[in-house]
Order: sequence, then structure tokens, then C-alpha cells
Amino acid sequence: MTRILIIEDEKAIRMALEDDFIAEGYRVDSATTGTVGLQKGSEPDYDIILLDIMLPEMDGFEVLKELRKRNVRTPVIMLTAKSLEIDKILGLEFGADDYVTKPFSPRELQSRIKAVLRRVNEKPEMSSETQFSFGNISVDFQKCECFKGDENILLTTLEFDLLKFLINHKGQVVNRDLIVHDVWGSEVFVAPRTVDTHILNLRKKIEDNPSQPKWIIGIRGRGYKFLSP
Ligand code: CA
Repeated sequence: MTRILIIEDEKAIRMALEDDFIAEGYRVDSATTGTVGLQKGSEPDYDIILLDIMLPEMDGFEVLKELRKRNVRTPVIMLTAKSLEIDKILGLEFGADDYVTKPFSPRELQSRIKAVLRRVNEKPEMSSETQFSFGNISVDFQKCECFKGDENILLTTLEFDLLKFLINHKGQVVNRDLIVHDVWGSEVFVAPRTVDTHILNLRKKIEDNPSQPKWIIGIRGRGYKFLSP
């Protein structure tokens, strides 16, 4: 049974979500403030967290930052009401796994959640190659660990999947459609700009000089290529 935590202060939205997820067979818990959301979300009791941004006491960005600081890796989908917030979500250092824009349909949200959970759950068997090193980076996809030298680099589940996808296609040019299809899944719509933003975030974490990447190279008009070490 999938366990979901809904952190949302607007009663009507929260109750509608609770009803939808209970009907879909999820085990549902909820919180109405950032502080309580953080407290509950820090427990290893949930498979996925829905996190609103405008919340009393602590906003969703602070909650996410604090969760990741506490090394809580539960996937987080942010609920956003403004397009301005989307840039901020995509630019987060310790990113969310996905976001949906209000108003959203229950169906859209369900497919987003399924895509995120599928990514998380499939991880151990995605490929026989679970460890990979290049330059001073070593990554273990099974353990979800990434080191740059001695430094532990925190990647989101999406960034792990993106990196794994690129490594599995090393030396090949992969276009954004293929990246979306394989990393996000075919049932969700993801704008090409979103792919670019996640690539940028990944470069910031693993490249020595993100503006002159050595590993994840952009091929103008075609896509990206991971250079084989
Ligand atoms: Ca709110």
C-alpha cells in the first residue's frame, strides 16, 4: 500500500486530495502547517510527500530544504499556484522530484506520482551496472550515493535517474524527447526547458566548471551527450 503525506493548508484542496487517494487505495496522512509537515515528513513512514508551497509557519521551500538537510530521501512533489514558483522549484539545490501546477486534475497528479514512484522503485534493477566512476566522481546507483572526491554530493532521485540514463548512453547523442520518455516516463508531459534545467543542476553538482562541462555536453539542436571517460 502506498503511503502518502499531504502537506497542504487549504482545507478544500486537502480534503479533496485525501478523498481521492483513499479511494485509490493509498494510506493517507496529512499536515496543515510547514512545521507539522516537516515533523511528520522526517519519519520514514511515507513513500511520497505532496508539499504545498504557501504554508503557515514554514513555507514548502524551507520544509523541503530541511528534509533534505536531514537526509530524508522520500520523493517530494510540490504543489504550486504560480508559474513564478516553478523556476524556483527547478532551481532548488536540493530539488523536488516533480511539481504540479494548481489547479490540477486528480488524474494528472496520480500519473505524476506513479511516474515518480516507478523511478524510485525501479532503480535497483535498471541496469546491471550499479557503480560508475569518471574523473573525481564516483556514483553508486544502487545505494543512491554520489561522491566528488571525498565530498558526498546529494542528488535527487530524478538527478540519479538522469545521470544513469546519460551514462547508459555514454558516447551517444540523446535528444530531449528520449530523455523525457526514459527518465520521466511516457505518461507525463515534460517541457524541454525542464530537461535543460535539470541538466544544468546536475552539471552544477558534478562538473568542476559547470559553464564548460567536461562530462555532460550539450549538442546544439540535438540534445546531450555523456562523454565516455
Ligand atoms: Ca497553501
